[in-house]
Amino acid sequence: MIYQSTRNNSEQVNSAQAVVKGIADDGGLYMLKDFSELNFDYKSVLNLTSMETAEKVLSALLDDFSKEDMHRMVEEAYRGRFETDELTPLVKVGDNFVLELFRGPTSAFKDVALSMLPRLMTQGRKLLGKEKDTVILTATSGDTGKAALEGFHDVEGIKIIVFYPDGGVSAVQKAQMVTQEGNNVCVCAVKGNFDDAQTGVKNAFADFRNSGIDSVELSSANSINIGRLAPQVVYYFTAYSSLVKSGEIKVGDKINFVVPTGNFGDILAGYFAKCMGLPVNKLICASNANNILTDFITTGIYDRRRDFYKTISPSMDILVSSNLERLLYLLSDGNADEVAGYMKDLNEKGIYKVSDKLLSRIQESFTAAYCDDETTLKTIKEVYDKENYLCDTHTAVAMRAALDSNTEGKTVVLSTASPYKFPVAVLSALGEKPDDNEFRVMDKINEITGVAIPKNLSGLETKKVLHTDVIEKDKLTEYVLKKVAQKKW
Ligand SMILES: *Cc1c(COP(=O)(O)O)cnc(C)c1O
Repeated sequence: MIYQSTRNNSEQVNSAQAVVKGIADDGGLYMLKDFSELNFDYKSVLNLTSMETAEKVLSALLDDFSKEDMHRMVEEAYRGRFETDELTPLVKVGDNFVLELFRGPTSAFKDVALSMLPRLMTQGRKLLGKEKDTVILTATSGDTGKAALEGFHDVEGIKIIVFYPDGGVSAVQKAQMVTQEGNNVCVCAVKGNFDDAQTGVKNAFADFRNSGIDSVELSSANSINIGRLAPQVVYYFTAYSSLVKSGEIKVGDKINFVVPTGNFGDILAGYFAKCMGLPVNKLICASNANNILTDFITTGIYDRRRDFYKTISPSMDILVSSNLERLLYLLSDGNADEVAGYMKDLNEKGIYKVSDKLLSRIQESFTAAYCDDETTLKTIKEVYDKENYLCDTHTAVAMRAALDSNTEGKTVVLSTASPYKFPVAVLSALGEKPDDNEFRVMDKINEITGVAIPKNLSGLETKKVLHTDVIEKDKLTEYVLKKVAQKKW
């Protein structure tokens, strides 16, 4: 099976290379040209467990990995590491269904993909005969860092360095990262904001390339890697199976998914599932006040020349959604020149407009909605009062879209974080005044609602701090080079 760059059809790789390289040399993203060659029969997974479904779906998308290896990797990634072996349970909430993606080791939906990616990378490197160690560099605004640390710690042949903005993450997020155990992990605060950390990481990649050091290879764990998208396709199938098993739908009935969206990875995985034959009516793209995708899906104009808002659903505070490029590629029937043109306009002018044909194809599968912080808080309260279900802020944005939608068919809302990951906003939504100490805020939510605090979050306050490095924002390269030279971390 061939993956090719969204910007140049002659840049082609197999699935193992796509995972190991992450991004194409021309800056494009690796993508299948179409899904029909997969010949995937969704009915064949309806009676399987979540982990069996993962094996089938991942083997279909990444066919260079043997069935035996895929089985082993799925077991290592998921068995005993999630709160339930179902991995991502589906819960009925009023007339809708909530797909809980946050039952993993760090209580964030990114666990689903970041538990699997390190294993795919290691195995991919073996298949390609690469022997050097890989060092993963990640800048995080909070959630990705911990999920990556949890996924990569103690994985053979890989080391990981996570940079977070000093004072720029919540107390809980910081505690999650600085207590991370493992002999191949390193966590470092950067004096600056998230953009400084991210720019520092980008510069470190460039500086490293120019340094001539070739004892290790650098790589990243961000969501443009196809090895992060593929594991997310799985839960669209398990959600559907679950509705069939519980008698809510018959095989073949079309359903909708509402996805709280940032970088467009999660919702794109839903579109992959649809392309693989899953009966999906609409994918509803839910945004916060940064509603650039709502505008794009309704008008075909992507205009990033606008204000950026910091909201209470920070993982969706994003103006350039990288994975959208893959959708444009698929829906233009693999027209890499057309896609490259849009991306050039975005870079140079900050705006592009897709063709009418492309827009109408987008609208066949997608609709969009957004809400602001005030409505997000009201929705948390409304759903809690009416249905006795506690949403986090990101999930509430999607829940609002579901409640306001009149699309035909049953609707599944993807829940991307535990309410305990954003406790201050959640407690104030319930009408209480939050304490300064986030751990007390969690206790208070627990007292009021009785919803259990996830184990990985409850013991944090007293866990041993293992990482205390803090550096200036222009010192990332220096730090990385020093680390790379050290034998023992
Ligand atoms: C990353 C994230 C999202 C956005 O997912 P994308 O794949 O980037 O669209 C939504 N909610 C939470 C809690 C996240 O961590």
